[in-house]
Amino acid sequence: MKLYALRGYMLLLILVLNITLLAGTVSAANRYPIKSSQTAVNGVLDLTQNDMNQTYPLDGEWRWYPNELLVPGQLENKPIMTTKVPGNWNLAPADAGRIEPYGSGTYQLDILLPEHSSGQMWAIHVPTIYSAYTFWVNGRLVEQNGVTGDTQTEQPGRPTKVISFASDSDRIQLMFQVTNHIYRSGGITSSIHFGKSESVYRFSNMRISTELFLTGGLIMMSVYHLGLYVLRRKDRTPLYFGMYCLTLGIRGLFTGERAIYDFNAGLNWAFALRFEYILLCISVIALALFVKSVFPKEIHWVGAGTIIALTSFYIALCLMASPEVVSRYLLYFQYMMLIAVLYALYVFFMAIKRKREGAIISGIGITCFVMTVINDILSSQGFIETEFYATHGLYVFIICQSFILAISFSRALTSSEELTQKLLVMNSSLEEIVQERTQELKESNQALLVQSLLDGLTGIANRRCFNDNAHEMLQGKEGLCLLLMDIDHFKKYNDTYGHFKGDECLRKVAKALQAEAFKAGGIAARYGGEEFAVIAPADQVIPKQFAEQLVGCIKKLQLPHSASETEAVVTISCGVAVRKASDDPVSIDTVIQIADQALYTAKALGRNRYYIASVEER
Ligand code: GH3
Ligand code: MG
Ligand code: MG
Repeated sequence: MKLYALRGYMLLLILVLNITLLAGTVSAANRYPIKSSQTAVNGVLDLTQNDMNQTYPLDGEWRWYPNELLVPGQLENKPIMTTKVPGNWNLAPADAGRIEPYGSGTYQLDILLPEHSSGQMWAIHVPTIYSAYTFWVNGRLVEQNGVTGDTQTEQPGRPTKVISFASDSDRIQLMFQVTNHIYRSGGITSSIHFGKSESVYRFSNMRISTELFLTGGLIMMSVYHLGLYVLRRKDRTPLYFGMYCLTLGIRGLFTGERAIYDFNAGLNWAFALRFEYILLCISVIALALFVKSVFPKEIHWVGAGTIIALTSFYIALCLMASPEVVSRYLLYFQYMMLIAVLYALYVFFMAIKRKREGAIISGIGITCFVMTVINDILSSQGFIETEFYATHGLYVFIICQSFILAISFSRALTSSEELTQKLLVMNSSLEEIVQERTQELKESNQALLVQSLLDGLTGIANRRCFNDNAHEMLQGKEGLCLLLMDIDHFKKYNDTYGHFKGDECLRKVAKALQAEAFKAGGIAARYGGEEFAVIAPADQVIPKQFAEQLVGCIKKLQLPHSASETEAVVTISCGVAVRKASDDPVSIDTVIQIADQALYTAKALGRNRYYIASVEER
């Protein structure tokens, strides 16, 4: 089961990665077949030798008229100044017409086309130009995006746009009048692409479809993980991850080609800006919480807390401040994000070092992401000439994270399956085990009972067993005789032959007494150290004969006892208490006491003898 889940996931991962890369490559092929090798010089871009089935970025030196809003026909007598496009006008060199971020100016570029190019439909793909522009081709007004004007009259236009136009000559003159009184930087800040109308539309569609593909993937992933969280609230990891994917997915509609304007052309510019930044902030918070819940020991709460607090502050700013302030503070927020990403790198590095589950996959993901971000920074700064890949890097990072979640889920599922299996086996054998245990208990109880009733040294009944039995017999009406016996001079026996021999003697005496008692239908017991007791029904034996027999059987054993003052062999003395059938029930203590006195008398009379006392006489 676990393997299936993993393999399925791996397959999906590979598939998605391939499609992503493919989409990236195809779109790249359509985006920049020639990357800025052909640049405009002194306001002229020479494409006379180029294949016009391609799209070209209109990068290079454009003519630039800072702080002037000119219309065609007003350019003739103006001094010529050029500026680099793409570029922020507030970052241009001072001698290249640098102006304040909030300002205005006019751009102009001539494109030289191959011969016989007239009569074609051409188009340009215009990226976001803050905030409004008016566009002329060969002196003819083609597009008004928003309303160019001053602080009062300016109205921002739609961000990205494809503008097509016809031209009846081999030379095309483009002219842009740009004003910005809203955003923190102004001018044409990204490349404008030019080509035949159908090529430019294809170029634009490819970009939009790539972005929608990524957005769709992210939203699918978010739905899946949020669903997991709804079904199992105990673990918040999928919640944070789902939130992260969701915010980034939705944000994808507000960045790049800004596909959101295809769904809602009249979307408010300022609202879109605030919303996009807030989504970015929420994604940062969700990511911090996610990393904290995956590697709780590696990320310090102060670190995560600071990131969340600063981001929340920026969210508040986005909600309350004007777009100018919001866009101005974005820079500081980006610095903070850079530090947060470096901190995340450190967290992942520590997790790998401490061999945490999923750390390596996470590490691969974040490394991919960071590398693509570095690539994009270097590329946008002109140090290298490559595509922008951060979106793809991010996608790889997200897929790696979701893979880790899948591993932990599959692990949990497997262990619960194993537990269920174990439980089933245990349940089925439980009955057997109970039976076995019951049997064992019965046996050990039996053994305990036997142990508690027998004397450990001699193996005959002990005093407790004797008392219980005698008590029961004394409750009846039958005649009984109870005999107490004591080995004569046993201390001396021990002194002479040693304790070991003494024990042996005790066993032999016990055995002999038990045999006699058994014959008479009675019980023999060890009553104390070297004292024994016998009880037998008096209708089976005549007390006198029985006592004689018991005393005699010990002497007959002929166990040498050189220290005895009575005989040269071991002998016993015996006190007998007799209860006739007609007598009333009597307590065991009374009978024992009578027998004990009789024994004392027998001892006094010279030992190796018995003395009979009747219960009735008492
Ligand atoms: P009497 O003839 O008056 O009965 O003298 P006695 O020495 O037999 O009586 P006493 O009560 O003075 O001594 C009993 C001895 O029995 C003392 C003790 O060492 C011994 N004895 C008691 N229990 C055991 C036992 O389990 N094993 C051994 N070897 N000796 C025991
Ligand atoms: Mg004694
Ligand atoms: Mg004795």
